[in-house]
Amino acid sequence: MNIVIFGPPGAGKGTQSSYLIHNFNLFQLSTGDLLRDELKSKSALASEIESLMNAGKLVSDTIINNLIEKKLSDVSIANRIIFDGFPRNIEQAKTLDSLLSKYSQSISLVLNLKVDYSVLTKRISGRVSCSVCKKTFNEFFDPPVSCENSKCADRVLNKRSDDNVETVSKRLKTYDESTLPILGYYSSKNIVKDVDAMEDIESVSKQISSIIKDLKR
Ligand SMILES: [Zn+2]
Repeated sequence: MNIVIFGPPGAGKGTQSSYLIHNFNLFQLSTGDLLRDELKSKSALASEIESLMNAGKLVSDTIINNLIEKKLSDVSIANRIIFDGFPRNIEQAKTLDSLLSKYSQSISLVLNLKVDYSVLTKRISGRVSCSVCKKTFNEFFDPPVSCENSKCADRVLNKRSDDNVETVSKRLKTYDESTLPILGYYSSKNIVKDVDAMEDIESVSKQISSIIKDLKR
């Protein structure tokens, strides 16, 4: 079963992907990992990617598609791939489908993680971490009480520069415009299952687990 884990930034796609990998023996395919792995390989493509990135340019869809196809042709992970953060637009979703069919595979499930945008904004913009032990907190949901470690007495709470309300709204706007329409594309194939991702991590995992078990029946 190949799965797309779908949802806005901050919905918990990464967390739930790791849950799926460990409990359902799936392989996570994210474009970030593909690019990092290729760069490590020192291939001809790696040096092309490196010079694009050094020039501050986006890596083209053609390159991404080549890297994805390499994975799709790997029989050791066939039909147990979870796509995280890809596809990002309808064009990529269509390309993915045709690449999959070339290797007699398809997407059989799209997990649609649903979270109110007001909650997402707080999840992302409220993130802070301890400068000493790196423990993360959230100013809204998990207030930064003192760390257990006594070394942290002089800690400073750090916030990533892109974890602010303006950047989050921009990312959500891009998601609405480019990524959300994919849902209509997959809905027409009857493979979308909604997940209430407002709940805590464990109950979201439980929902996902029962969706997959139902499909396997
Ligand atoms: Zn600390």
